[in-house]
Amino acid sequence: MKVLKFGGSSLADSTQFAKVKQIVEADDARRFVVVSAVGKSAQDPHKITDLLYLCHAHLKYGVSCDQLFAQIAQRFLAIKKALKLTYPIEKDLDLIQASLRKQMPLDYLVSRGEYLTAKLMANYLHYTFLDAKDFLRFAYDGKVDFVKTAELLEHQIAKHDRFVIPGFYGAMPDGSIRIMARGGSDITGAILAQLVQAEVYENWTDVSGILMADPRIIEEPRQIQRITYSELRELSYMGADVLHEDAIFPVKEANIPIHIRNTNDPMNPGTLIMELNDETLRQSDSLITGIAGRKDFSVVAIYKNHMSNEVGIIRRALSVFEQFHISVEHIPSGIDSFSVVVNQADIKDCVYELVAQIKAACECDQVRILHDIALIATVGRHMSARPGISGQLFAQLGQHGINIRMIAQGSDEINIIVGVDNRDFERTIRVIYAHFVETKQEVQTKEDHEEPMI
Ligand code: ASP
Repeated sequence: MKVLKFGGSSLADSTQFAKVKQIVEADDARRFVVVSAVGKSAQDPHKITDLLYLCHAHLKYGVSCDQLFAQIAQRFLAIKKALKLTYPIEKDLDLIQASLRKQMPLDYLVSRGEYLTAKLMANYLHYTFLDAKDFLRFAYDGKVDFVKTAELLEHQIAKHDRFVIPGFYGAMPDGSIRIMARGGSDITGAILAQLVQAEVYENWTDVSGILMADPRIIEEPRQIQRITYSELRELSYMGADVLHEDAIFPVKEANIPIHIRNTNDPMNPGTLIMELNDETLRQSDSLITGIAGRKDFSVVAIYKNHMSNEVGIIRRALSVFEQFHISVEHIPSGIDSFSVVVNQADIKDCVYELVAQIKAACECDQVRILHDIALIATVGRHMSARPGISGQLFAQLGQHGINIRMIAQGSDEINIIVGVDNRDFERTIRVIYAHFVETKQEVQTKEDHEEPMI
């Protein structure tokens, strides 16, 4: 069986609802449908979720939200009317409206977007509506209680076999509603896919899969056809706008592929995210899978003569970062120096204090700070255990006059990170893309270079 999740733009109006129905009905295995709230459409530039947040803000400050709520209600009523649905959504809307008051819990109000959307979709598909509050359970620490959730879900699926489920929220142990991070329906879908042991988790959106680079930097970048969970994690950590982290872990653990697909172009193959041991991942026409990056890092460089003979100096420096609650990105090191790469925003307000404490903790000769550094990750499973890739990358940047200020590579060799000046960010991505993607670099068979494992 398959679990599907549709994002807000796939549910923006009755035309989008009709596309969803076609997709669901095209495959009998599509038995679990998770929906986001009605999203932006050509006629309506607002997401229902955003309007609900706005309603809550009005209530909090004692301003009437009647008009806003009417706007929200209208979107649902229009879909019902256009599709000639029979579900009495008016009753739900009246109930919610009657409960609007100053102390209204934000989570309850905002979750109504998904709730109402799922009600209509269930009616349209003739599937059973399964409220997320009746099975998706959080523990008091806010984490999903997988044991309880599995137990509750089992009860529900014993009774019916095709469901529409609102994403983005669940219930606390006391039954109150709790929402997830924005975009949380992806997480609901992933949890469900894991619990029902789906053959695939289809994530339907308005783009045809994941692109190899940011389309704001590379004109019409190629689409990634297959990617491993680890590659995806590297790319999303480095800024690629893909699935929420928490939406990857549940399915990754259960080895369930995620298939990113386009509701507006269902024939497009999309992007398949899967485990590395899958045979199909060996084929690829590109050495690299994708490029992503982020700007605005700072490098804190610590110098001390004969540092290489000293034990514990890096630990002492890092404990200072820990005291300041600063997360460390990378620690490139030299013989008598090492650098700590951090987010610029994190040290902005404490930089003098930080430097003073590092000097005291490490008794070092000098601490230098370099701001406005961009990190760019070139990610690809085919790069691992192949000599010469980083050489090519650095040579290309050198030939284009781009100064590399930092280099880092993970031990699994699927990611080469370079630090450059912020102003070279876009150009670096273009140079790497042009070399590795546009002028096809040959993907040799990996066996040629496989190293023996101890
Ligand atoms: N509707 C929520 C949001 O806009 C959750 C979701 O779409 O997944 O963030």
